[in-house]
Amino acid sequence: MSLGRSYSMKENAMKPLAAISLAMTLFSSTSSAQEAPMIEINRVGSQPSAAGPESNFTGSVRVDSLFRGTEPARVGGGTVTFEPGARTAWHTHPLGQTLIVTAGVGLVGQWDGPIQEMRPGDIVWIPPGVKHWHGASPSVGMSHIAIAESLDGKSVEWMEKVTDEHYLD
Ligand code: MN
Repeated sequence: MSLGRSYSMKENAMKPLAAISLAMTLFSSTSSAQEAPMIEINRVGSQPSAAGPESNFTGSVRVDSLFRGTEPARVGGGTVTFEPGARTAWHTHPLGQTLIVTAGVGLVGQWDGPIQEMRPGDIVWIPPGVKHWHGASPSVGMSHIAIAESLDGKSVEWMEKVTDEHYLD
């Protein structure tokens, strides 16, 4: 904060109310800075890996590095690793989802739409309410970071499993 030339000692002496006002402003800004929330670092390895639940996934799936924004933020996500052939069940996201592929070869399928390949560096946007699945290719595993915002506390609506017939189509 710049005090500027107008707040010289001489001028403050002539305008005591202005000096008190300035002091209160400085004090309150210092006070709020001390109360500011602290940056948090959640260290790698501080959370155990979790298995993707059988009800929502086919095959072997590992979920890591989950995060959840602090209110009023509603973003959340994590890293998901699929063994070859593994995939999510069909599902939708109320506010959409972003997938950032970090390793391997993946597939993403849309209801009544194509199955598309995705590779490391690809960023996939799934619009709100679009029924879809994502997972590894049949012969190569895949990892992605998945990010979605919650609406009324929910970021996903799970549906039926993806059949082998559809997956291998
Ligand atoms: Mn999804």
